[in-house]
Amino acid sequence: MRSVTHFIHGKVAPLPGARLSDILDPSTGAVQAQVELADAAHLSRAVDSARAAQPDWAAVNPQRRARVMFRFKELIEQNMDDLARLLSSEHGKVIADAKGDIQRGLEVVEFACGIPHLLKGEYTEGAGPGIDVYSMRQPLGIVAGITPFNFPAMIPLWMASMAIACGNAFILKPSERDPSVPVRLAELALEAGLPEGILNVVHGDKEVVDAILDHPDIKAVSFVGSSDIANYVYARAAQNGKRAQCMGGAKNHGIILPDADMDQAVADIIGAAYGSAGERCMALPVVTPVGEATAEILREKLVAAIDTLRPGIPTDPDAQYGPLVTGAHKARVESYIQMAVDEGAEIVVDGRGFSLQGYEQGFYLAPTLIDRVTPQMKSYQDEIFGPVLQILRAETFEEALAYPSRHPYGNGVAIFTRNGDMARRFAAQVEVGMVGINVPIPVPVAYHSFGGWKRSGFGDLDQYGMDGVRFYTRTKKITQRWPSGGAVVDQSFVIPTMK
Ligand code: NAD
Repeated sequence: MRSVTHFIHGKVAPLPGARLSDILDPSTGAVQAQVELADAAHLSRAVDSARAAQPDWAAVNPQRRARVMFRFKELIEQNMDDLARLLSSEHGKVIADAKGDIQRGLEVVEFACGIPHLLKGEYTEGAGPGIDVYSMRQPLGIVAGITPFNFPAMIPLWMASMAIACGNAFILKPSERDPSVPVRLAELALEAGLPEGILNVVHGDKEVVDAILDHPDIKAVSFVGSSDIANYVYARAAQNGKRAQCMGGAKNHGIILPDADMDQAVADIIGAAYGSAGERCMALPVVTPVGEATAEILREKLVAAIDTLRPGIPTDPDAQYGPLVTGAHKARVESYIQMAVDEGAEIVVDGRGFSLQGYEQGFYLAPTLIDRVTPQMKSYQDEIFGPVLQILRAETFEEALAYPSRHPYGNGVAIFTRNGDMARRFAAQVEVGMVGINVPIPVPVAYHSFGGWKRSGFGDLDQYGMDGVRFYTRTKKITQRWPSGGAVVDQSFVIPTMK
């Protein structure tokens, strides 16, 4: 049985006698490997390694740190096929989508290559008589990231590349369900010239997460995962005086106005609802057509489009999406489909009971479409995180605007229309962090920042972009005066002011 172990100070660091967690092959349902789960003592080894390495790394000039990022980018590109295969084998997403997962992380590595420019401070000459004021950005020291199963390359790269480029040492605690790609990325970073100890990977579950949150030498924690745990991590990190940014779950709506290009909107909605088996925080699991006529046309086109979809094994180039990540998660998604039925929604296409020939034990679920959903239903309020699309009909634009605005999650939303004025009003007024206008999955590019609102994001700084630089640095503000000779010694007991 293959064993996945920790990566500390530039080498694999097995933990004899550790608790183990199974890594499944979602396409067959079989156990393919086991990952060692760390405890607080093991985390301390990673922190010790980081503490020893970080001051020298922070002292490396930013341009040289950027060169490591350039080389890291090249190595990820050279290893793209192998990384994608490894990622698919543990996550279950199809190969093309696995490459997208890696590519979106790689784009943040590209952004981090510009770190010399991004770290520049501010300077004011002559802020007072003979006084200049300037600020500089300095790394925090040792920081940590805790990541979810659904983007095992992208999200670790969002965090690690920004943290490291800023001069920190980074401890990554990836999802225990698909931990192999994060280790491989750490090996590639080492090969790129990153010093030992600057990127350590520690596997585990709640036990090691709590150890991270309580460790006094870890100064900041970035978390991405489900909302209850994001909230917990945010609160415990804050209690321990740490900086924290914690991204949570989502329930993103796609609003369809009557004037939308309906064929394009349907193509976009189908891809965003069922791609990656719906296991994306920026998926579109709710579609809100405005007006009965729009709803009827949309429903008819969705049913026709769903008819052409085919889940399959990740290496099947004709499959639009693969299996769900675990049997337990599949059962949870199915229970939400049943809940919607019990709550009185209309099941239009039922994906349950699907079986892929030759892979009967795999965690496959065919696409499901549910109509006549209402805001009172729990199946609407909760995140389902599977290939399930719900239709929530609205009479008016205002009603459609209110649904995502009132929903407890506020990650992403999309509006489909040809009316620029309506789209502009929608973008300005909707209570959601990321908005797409005729764009189904509005994940901002690497030089902007990513983050949702409400239960989708705890903390004030977003992932990557300039917010990433802000999160992983602290600013020092210097007020300086150089006496120019013959200075009069003055003394004051009044706070200095600028009269
Ligand atoms: P999860 O919350 O189960 O796990 C996330 C991380 O937390 C993992 O590393 C896990 O080991 C750890 N963890 C699990 N239980 C814990 C506990 N009780 N205490 C402390 N740590 C714990 O999430 P997941 O199932 O891996 O990922 C799917 C979720 O992540 C979905 O809700 C999805 O919407 C969300 N997500 C959000 C974003 C975003 O940017 N907003 C992006 C991707 C995924």
